[in-house]
Amino acid sequence: MVPFTTELISLEKAKAEMLGQLRPLRDHLSVLLEDAVGFITALVITSPINVPSFDNSAMDGYAVRLSDLQSNQPLKVAGKACAGTPFISDWPIGSVVRIMTGAPVPTGCNAVVIQENALEVEGGVLINAPVQPGQNIRRIGEDIACGQPVLAAGVRLGAAKLPLLASLGITEVKVLRKLRVAIFSTGNELQEVGQPLEDGQIYDINRFAISLMLHKLGCKVIDLGIIKDDKHAILYACEEADRQADIVISTGGMSVGETDFTKILLEELGLITFWKLAIKPGKPFAFGRFANSWFCGLPGNPVSAVVTFYQLVQPLITALTGQSVSPFPPRLRARATVRLKKSPDYLEFQRGIMKRGTDGEIQVRSTGHQGSHIFSSFTAANCFIVLERSRGIVEPGEWVDIEPFNALLEE
Ligand code: AMP
Ligand code: MG
Repeated sequence: MVPFTTELISLEKAKAEMLGQLRPLRDHLSVLLEDAVGFITALVITSPINVPSFDNSAMDGYAVRLSDLQSNQPLKVAGKACAGTPFISDWPIGSVVRIMTGAPVPTGCNAVVIQENALEVEGGVLINAPVQPGQNIRRIGEDIACGQPVLAAGVRLGAAKLPLLASLGITEVKVLRKLRVAIFSTGNELQEVGQPLEDGQIYDINRFAISLMLHKLGCKVIDLGIIKDDKHAILYACEEADRQADIVISTGGMSVGETDFTKILLEELGLITFWKLAIKPGKPFAFGRFANSWFCGLPGNPVSAVVTFYQLVQPLITALTGQSVSPFPPRLRARATVRLKKSPDYLEFQRGIMKRGTDGEIQVRSTGHQGSHIFSSFTAANCFIVLERSRGIVEPGEWVDIEPFNALLEE
């Protein structure tokens, strides 16, 4: 582990250091498909069937045998095949079968002629367009072959993935058990959301915001509440959290004020690294290992807590659950429409509002006051404006990087 240093550490370095130490979770269990939303696949899932499971028609028309199309006599209609009702009678030479989309093609059929290319005449139909072998037939297994992998391990199951498994007749999946994350806030000034505020008190937003995001990430949240700025209380909370969780998250008390015990205490616990991250907001951040769990100490200011959760804890959770973490979060280039204040030395995550201009160009403006206590800056925003460390003030018209909020903040 990188020793404590007063040097400002880049976000990339901190992230690489953090992720380099992890061993992904292994314990898994079987869950019914309908209970599997939010879980992560533990193993590769292969298809137990072919999809489609039989050759079927892609169009409404006539099933034909190419060998019957040599003469230009009308072809009798021997019967009908509909989706769910196959044609199972004998199929006499020199005839066709009326067929509907999704119906199994009769044995021996090697093309389907669309009805627009078949003329109904006395005694049958006349095919009046060239016919290619195999045309308009969806072949067995052409979408997914039996035994083919359909989902990798480490894939989060949601509305885009689960219906595919359902379509394969899969009713149970092996998933990783949910990551258990314990969370507590520190601060004598904090009050539970929903209780009346007394003099000098503020509501504990951090625990509320972080719990929401943890649920979104499919974690089981162990809420240890608000802990007073008291060394013993914080020590007890850490021990309790470590007994129950895979990850322990605290917020507040990471600075150097008189009541900032978390940092002092964690230094005593030994296996914790503090980073002064070269990011704004979100400078003081601690990461390390307790006996059973990983520890993340987030700054107290709500904006800083959410930014560090988003930029550091989110990839940690992703990696621990075996999902791949891209070292390059999706970013876009956008033109700043307003002046953006920026001091050098820090990578800044300003909250921005992006939109596409009438000329098709993506434009972005800041949400205004960027203080790390101004949580409303998140509420109006739909992206981070990411300003690199070396950058100074941005003038209107300059290009900047933006990171659109993912589902963690957007829904
Ligand atoms: P700290 O890091 O504990 O010094 O806190 C920095 C600032 O964030 C102070 O103004 C705290 O009152 C505020 N703060 C700390 N924790 C929370 C929280 N859970 N919810 C809202 N504000 C907080
Ligand atoms: Mg505090």
